[in-house]
Amino acid sequence: MIIKSIRNAKELAGKTVFLRVDFNIPVKNGKIKDDFKIAANLPAIRFLLRYKCRVIIGTHLGRPLKQKNKKEYSTKPIARRLGKLLGKKIGFVDDCVGPKVEEMVSKMKEGEVLMLENLRFYKEEKENDKEFAEKLAHSADIYVNNAFAVSHRAHASVSAIKKYKPSYAGLLLENEIISLKKILRPRKPLVVVIGGAKIKTKLPMLKKIRGSAGKVLVGGALANNFLSALKYEVGKSLVDKENIKLAKKIYSKYRFLGNKKIILPLDVVVSKRKDGGGKVSVKNIDKVNKSDVILDIGPRTIKLFSGFIKEAKTIVWNGPMGKFELDHFHHGTLSIARVIAARSTGIAFGVAGGGETVEALKITKMMNYVDWVSTGGGAMLSFLGGEKMPGLEGIVK
Ligand code: ADP
Ligand code: MG
Repeated sequence: MIIKSIRNAKELAGKTVFLRVDFNIPVKNGKIKDDFKIAANLPAIRFLLRYKCRVIIGTHLGRPLKQKNKKEYSTKPIARRLGKLLGKKIGFVDDCVGPKVEEMVSKMKEGEVLMLENLRFYKEEKENDKEFAEKLAHSADIYVNNAFAVSHRAHASVSAIKKYKPSYAGLLLENEIISLKKILRPRKPLVVVIGGAKIKTKLPMLKKIRGSAGKVLVGGALANNFLSALKYEVGKSLVDKENIKLAKKIYSKYRFLGNKKIILPLDVVVSKRKDGGGKVSVKNIDKVNKSDVILDIGPRTIKLFSGFIKEAKTIVWNGPMGKFELDHFHHGTLSIARVIAARSTGIAFGVAGGGETVEALKITKMMNYVDWVSTGGGAMLSFLGGEKMPGLEGIVK
């Protein structure tokens, strides 16, 4: 695999760069709740500034076209935070294409940064519209994709834009690829920890790593699908009914490999209500009844999973082990997160990714112990699933 990295670009000095980042972060009433994704882009921005580039930054934020109040999705507060983190004043323009942008860019001096308004204020962004992409690229000499988290999408600012300017991978994108490649060619044994809710998004990866994974530990609502496919009672638990067949198919393919590779929970924490209210109890998996809601893995499962994780040389984790947002049901996720973090950066190479997965990891305050915390959830799963990624085409070969 060859990555066309910005580090290898010739004659970078003084160039005007369109840098696509993913600053899609929670903003409420102009306040930023979490700047992990901004911080992750600082090395790439600083790198370009060292070369005295003029850096035009574009990102999407939420799904503004579906909302009544588009203004709430302005990237202006993000520009402010970026300026603070960079320790320098940066410009902001309330559009992302057209004369206003062109004028602002023409006034930029070397080593200055200009943040554009939300790319998704135009429907053309998601439509991968060529004319829109050309307009985005218009004022720049080169294009740099640092937005790994949207690179599985065919959107104008990560896909079509590459036709119009010499294109490169940014430092964050490059690190994502290098780290995730280590999962595809792992130091063995590889242990995959998978949970969460969206089974369809996880299946390509489960298929792709079937051969190389030593163990696949399944928790969260994802496990409910497998348990249900194996005719266990899961009561009123969250189950993706449409995809139980898929779960059954993948399970039997794993079983076909002989040894027991795919490991399901032995016990679970149940409640009587989906919101976690009512009596909470731990049950063996064959004791769950029709009125139960499974909301976490149980203590025997934590012990079992931890044992496997401790044997791993490579670990990849996506998806919480339960509804960790509720205190009664966070033990499974937080315990497993701690074991993964404790084994990473040294004994094993550890990777974690996924919106909620990273939220859970943050609670443990052990983010820094994990070798690579991916900025992409869906994109990480696409990459590990060997899917075609429009944002990488032409820059990762
Ligand atoms: P990620 O964003 O890390 O990729 P997902 O989006 O697939 O993960 O799933 C995360 C969500 O799954 C969490 O919000 C969590 O509450 C939910 N979840 C996990 N296990 C269960 C469960 N047993 N019942 C209900 N929800 C669950
Ligand atoms: Mg999620």
